[in-house]
Amino acid sequence: MRLVIKFGGTSVGTPKHIKAVAKFIQINSKKNQIVMVCSAIGDTTDDLLEISDSIKKENRVKADSILSKLTKKHLQIANETISNSVIRKSLDQKLESILNELKGLMHGMILLGEVTPQSLDYLISFGERLSIEIVSHAILDLKTKSVALTGKEVGIVTDSNFGQSKPLMDTTRLRVSTNLEPLLSKKFIPVIGGFAGADQHGHVTTFGRGGSDYTATIIASCIRADEVWLMSDVDGLMSADPKMVKTAKVIPEVSYVEAMEMALFGAKQIHPRSFEPLLSKKIPMRIRSTFNVNNTGTLVTANPDEKTNKTVKCVSVIRHNGLIDMRGGSMVGAPGTAATIFTTLAKAGVNIMMISQSPSESSISIVVKKNDLDKAVNTIEMELLGKIIKKIDVTTDVSIIALIGSGMRGTIGVASRVFGSVAKRKTNVMMIAQGSSELNLAFVVKDSDCASAVQALHDEFRLGN
Ligand code: ASP
Ligand code: MG
Repeated sequence: MRLVIKFGGTSVGTPKHIKAVAKFIQINSKKNQIVMVCSAIGDTTDDLLEISDSIKKENRVKADSILSKLTKKHLQIANETISNSVIRKSLDQKLESILNELKGLMHGMILLGEVTPQSLDYLISFGERLSIEIVSHAILDLKTKSVALTGKEVGIVTDSNFGQSKPLMDTTRLRVSTNLEPLLSKKFIPVIGGFAGADQHGHVTTFGRGGSDYTATIIASCIRADEVWLMSDVDGLMSADPKMVKTAKVIPEVSYVEAMEMALFGAKQIHPRSFEPLLSKKIPMRIRSTFNVNNTGTLVTANPDEKTNKTVKCVSVIRHNGLIDMRGGSMVGAPGTAATIFTTLAKAGVNIMMISQSPSESSISIVVKKNDLDKAVNTIEMELLGKIIKKIDVTTDVSIIALIGSGMRGTIGVASRVFGSVAKRKTNVMMIAQGSSELNLAFVVKDSDCASAVQALHDEFRLGN
């Protein structure tokens, strides 16, 4: 098989882990052609973001100290990972040259005293540049041919939307396959840096946090891989958060659309656009654990096996949000009310997670992240209260509970089972939303009620069996 295997930051977080990953790849490469994609080691991307914050705040001392911590960490990991002294020396040279470039960039940004979206993407792409060298040398250390390539080097070309870029797939496909095919036929294992590519002018761009998943599926589509594996520190997509529900199980199979819903709800954080490149060629994805390789994880395909299709496949939760209820008689039959509310909030930079409007049109409820709540309420009070809105009610600390599963579509009685089992726990439901795709039924409860409601639903739909 031709496989693209992506490892997350924790999977390559320590010398011990990197050695295990290299061994895993070496074993699997005996029967398969493998392309690896790697995230930055541990929290490196967070560290780089902190450097950018320090530059913005003109705190040069802090920027320098984070850089030296980051430098030390990588050199130490490299040193403890590689046993062959020649390979270790070659790795040290590579790392030092990359770290020098990073230092130069950082000092340039400090001198200019500014962080532009373009320089930020260049800065935060360094985590992956460092990790792929270490991982690729760890494979060399096992006497197996390997080469490290950044997203730019392998040929991922994107638009110039820094921080949220998208690949230009036709150009990318051509370049990536031209670069990778010869390496694969010569039995090299390419280790590709996730998260970043470059625009048509050669400026480094990133895909947004968690973007290495997206890199993996882009590469898979370009070289027509048979499967993509996302390896991380969880066993797969789970029927519920195992920290909340002891009997939570790995879901064996889900469809792309279900996985997309689950990714958005953060059951396991997957970059939401990761599924796009897989759809047309129907390349299956496996979500697996690096630390429990005997577990086959969750398989994501276009058409999951009938046997695995349950009405509801998982109960997920987004905790600690704010609920805002807006009312007013003048909202009734007045076109543009919703538009005004949403545009005003959008201008203030408030992201809305959930919306519901009563058919009488006299009330609209929204849910926003707790961090956005103050800003949202202030904006509404300043700009809309007393005009289109007569009254606003705010509830702090609510949770969104969402049930996901395509088997809900057209199945009668799901809602009654959902709300019946929640009612038995004497939990009050404050707001409900279901899209007409019926793939996702979401409702809001007080955060203090959420654990018991999730458990009740997990039991009701027998997700632990
Ligand atoms: N290193 C990047 C991040 O932490 C990309 C990734 O891990 O997928 O967001
Ligand atoms: Mg990461």
